[in-house]
Amino acid sequence: MISENLESIHSELPPEVKLVAVSKFHPIEEVMEAYMAGQRCFGENRPQEFAAKAVQLPQDIEWHFIGHLQTNKLKLVLPYASLVQSIDSQHLLDAVCFWAREHDKTVDILLECHIGQEETKGGLTDEEVLEICSNPPAGVRIRGLMGMASNTDDEELIRSDFARIKALHDKIRAGFPALKDFSELSIGMSGDWRIALEYGATIVRIGTAIFGPRRY
Ligand SMILES: *Cc1c(COP(=O)(O)O)cnc(C)c1O
Repeated sequence: MISENLESIHSELPPEVKLVAVSKFHPIEEVMEAYMAGQRCFGENRPQEFAAKAVQLPQDIEWHFIGHLQTNKLKLVLPYASLVQSIDSQHLLDAVCFWAREHDKTVDILLECHIGQEETKGGLTDEEVLEICSNPPAGVRIRGLMGMASNTDDEELIRSDFARIKALHDKIRAGFPALKDFSELSIGMSGDWRIALEYGATIVRIGTAIFGPRRY
């Protein structure tokens, strides 16, 4: 099942687009099933679960953190994360930079943009993103942007959300040549990843379409 789902996604996904298999709320055995099928990049959104899986599962897995991160949980996430996709506030960014300097490391991050219509969803405004990019702090490498489109069946709305984050991405690439590591655009989930490809996704984050409904 899991291996068939992966195979069918890969048959449509351009080879240069990275697939993050979102394994949150799925047990270790199911992550291993995907691993045995060749998948090496996984995403989790809860610090405790992220750390537990990172420690127990094979060490050649590339782990992405994709959820809301409180500053008192950094030590569960930053030692294991290849990419923190969900930097959603200046406060969190400051704390990650502080951790990086203390540990003499550079943390790869994406800036999470608020693009959906839901008020409740987190993320930085365009202005905040531009402000950070014009004055990039030490301790992090800003690799690109992440966003979640509105949770809706209205395809036009999803398209307008993706179009806005793509426009911001283009603006930063053109306007801030000093950000030489900035290239990634992480958009697209189980329900909308095919649309996201049309808007320049370089990373898609897919859970349900690989693992089925979440288990716990
Ligand atoms: C859960 C989650 C996903 C995957 O969602 P699916 O609809 O199951 O593919 C992608 N991105 C983020 C940030 C998530 O929290």
